[in-house]
Amino acid sequence: MAIAEQIQQVHERIRNAALAAGRDPQQVQLLAVSKTRSADELREAIACGERRFGENYLQEALAKIAALQDEVLEWHFIGPIQSNKTRDIASHFAWVHSVDRAKVAQRLNEQRPEALPPLNVCIQVNISHEDSKSGVMPAEVLSLAQEISALPHLRLRGLMAIPAASEDPAEQAAAFAAMQELMQTLNQQGFALDTLSMGMSGDMEAAIAHGATMVRIGTDIFGARHYSKKE
Ligand SMILES: *Cc1c(COP(=O)(O)O)cnc(C)c1O
Repeated sequence: MAIAEQIQQVHERIRNAALAAGRDPQQVQLLAVSKTRSADELREAIACGERRFGENYLQEALAKIAALQDEVLEWHFIGPIQSNKTRDIASHFAWVHSVDRAKVAQRLNEQRPEALPPLNVCIQVNISHEDSKSGVMPAEVLSLAQEISALPHLRLRGLMAIPAASEDPAEQAAAFAAMQELMQTLNQQGFALDTLSMGMSGDMEAAIAHGATMVRIGTDIFGARHYSKKE
């Protein structure tokens, strides 16, 4: 199926899931996840009105950002962050969804160019308590949120999660509900978080039912990925 058709279907799924949850569909933004996709494929999505793209691999992303400079786009970094890569992330992206330690937050803050507005960040939460996963444990989110809030060149927007893959709707729902609760708890403590970055091709409906404000969709827009290790 063509990218244009897939995008239309994804927007329809978002709309239906929001309405089913009694939410305004406008409260759920689509982040088109474009890792492994060519600049030409992104141009197809851009022609459909997509402006927000999520990338995981820095070198690959920088090449696409350069190739698409003629467009006004919003780039989101969503992959694991090595601390020696923070300078390029701080200077070329508008958002980072995968902040999971204070050291990375401090480096992004120091390296954010003065000419740019504060970098929007989400804290990545290891909501399924997986040993191998990046993300802070839920119990550590509050202290990292406090540290990030003190950094002038970062703007803490919310939380991000990649729950353990599951086909079981009840398990998906439990992880997303826990994220929603965590964000409510932080906001009760005085934070003003407005972003819950969660939901991918296989579980966006469950995420939207539990308050997702940004779903990150790759496969259902661009088709299956053919991986070659990039970094
Ligand atoms: C690849 C990726 C996605 C998109 O996943 P799909 O299943 O292809 O929709 C979303 N979030 C992150 C962090 C990713 O790495």
